[in-house]
Amino acid sequence: MTNALVTNTMPQLYAVIGNPIEHSRSPLIHHAFAQQLGIKLSYEKIWAPIDGFEEAVNAFRERGGRGMNVTVPFKLEAFDLAQQHSDRARRALAANTLVFPESPDEPVFADNTDGVGLVNDLAFHGVTLTGKRVLILGAGGATRGVLAPLLEQEPQTILIANRNPERAYGLVKEFTDAAGSSSLSGCPLTDIEETSFDLIINATPASLTAELPPLPEAIVGAKTVAYDMAYGAKPTVFMQWAKARGARPLDGLGMLVEQAAESFALWHGRRPDAAPVRELLREEIRLAAERADAD
Ligand code: NDP
Repeated sequence: MTNALVTNTMPQLYAVIGNPIEHSRSPLIHHAFAQQLGIKLSYEKIWAPIDGFEEAVNAFRERGGRGMNVTVPFKLEAFDLAQQHSDRARRALAANTLVFPESPDEPVFADNTDGVGLVNDLAFHGVTLTGKRVLILGAGGATRGVLAPLLEQEPQTILIANRNPERAYGLVKEFTDAAGSSSLSGCPLTDIEETSFDLIINATPASLTAELPPLPEAIVGAKTVAYDMAYGAKPTVFMQWAKARGARPLDGLGMLVEQAAESFALWHGRRPDAAPVRELLREEIRLAAERADAD
């Protein structure tokens, strides 16, 4: 380790690691938080080969890296790499935030801020979960990461609907065992109960390719909030579908900013104001889409 060479005058080094990673907005978000709080830091994107996560992490630590956000497909490996875990990371068995101590002999700490990011974003939009009926589409890493914080809000029920139903049943079993909760159930994506839900969370990447899962009309009522974890310059196909049926559509941009704020607070001991950074990111995405259209 060469951390001893890193002096206090150098900006602290952070990064987001993933594959792919070019699309990541995390550097913009963390630099905006840092500017807001007068903290000097450098935050970069690191692409790692699918079989090269640990090597890339070690190389980053050699350069003095103090913390990392972790995205697809490395969240499970990030959890395994750490020696200490937050409760919420332990519940998810996946981590999106790593904290590296200065000394290589001290333990690496792993956290998962995705779930609290979602809950905080819903709260920002005035959406409460207590006593509500929730439907989650998808049973991948994102669903795994948000389940415990969602259950903590004590919804009446959470139904997980997945293309491969076995993955939904697996999560139900795992989280029911851990929480002693009976509010969780699972079903195939093509066999969702035909009653309206208070909150539908699209935790599939289907919107990224403008695909809409096969959803029954009856799941949307006048009071339904339709939350897509994906986001873009325009409302996603899922948001459009839900809005046309009377639901209130929300995208995952705020979740991204809120999970970043939680990571930032963990690393720096100070909580940034997420609201102006939401606006900044929304504008940046709009401008990027304009530039792409002009090309
Ligand atoms: P995973 O690859 O781990 O899981 C994807 C899930 O979606 C699986 O359950 C899969 O089903 C299902 N799925 C994939 N494609 C389709 C499709 N075309 N139609 C229906 N179901 C599909 O991904 P993640 O869980 O990590 O991420 C899911 C989404 O959430 C991504 O778009 C990601 O960008 C977004 N996300 C956003 C965050 C934010 O801050 N806004 C944070 C984290 C994630 P099966 O099991 O059958 O393959």
